[in-house]
Amino acid sequence: MTLQGGCYCGRIRYEVSGELFNRTNCHCSICRRTSGAPFVTWFTVKRPNFRWLQGEPATLQSSSKATRNFCHACGTPLTYMHVNFVGEIDVTTCSLDAPAEVAPLDHVRTSSRLPWVKLADGLPEYPEARTHA
Ligand SMILES: [Zn+2]
Ligand SMILES: [Zn+2]
Repeated sequence: MTLQGGCYCGRIRYEVSGELFNRTNCHCSICRRTSGAPFVTWFTVKRPNFRWLQGEPATLQSSSKATRNFCHACGTPLTYMHVNFVGEIDVTTCSLDAPAEVAPLDHVRTSSRLPWVKLADGLPEYPEARTHA
């Protein structure tokens, strides 16, 4: 399976292939602040299965161990990498051209969930689990 995605303004494009895993909604405060949304939906691929097709994304060191890439022009959050998982890259599900095909399978970092976010999708919730900090 090969999927493509990109940012809102179209300057940055990427392609992923192979298995998509860790399909999750992350409620951590850093995902929230860097997106301006109550939580962020992600999936993970092995690093060789991700490639930039067009444009040069900006890089943010969002914590001591993590970097995030986004479009410098329109701000769309695109990818996330953590030094403890150097062989993997996380991708924002909703930057895909067809996000409906990659539904999340759980919620993580729900210890940080906003009290007005009422989850009713029946998916498993994990208070901590894998971080996007
Ligand atoms: Zn853009
Ligand atoms: Zn997060």
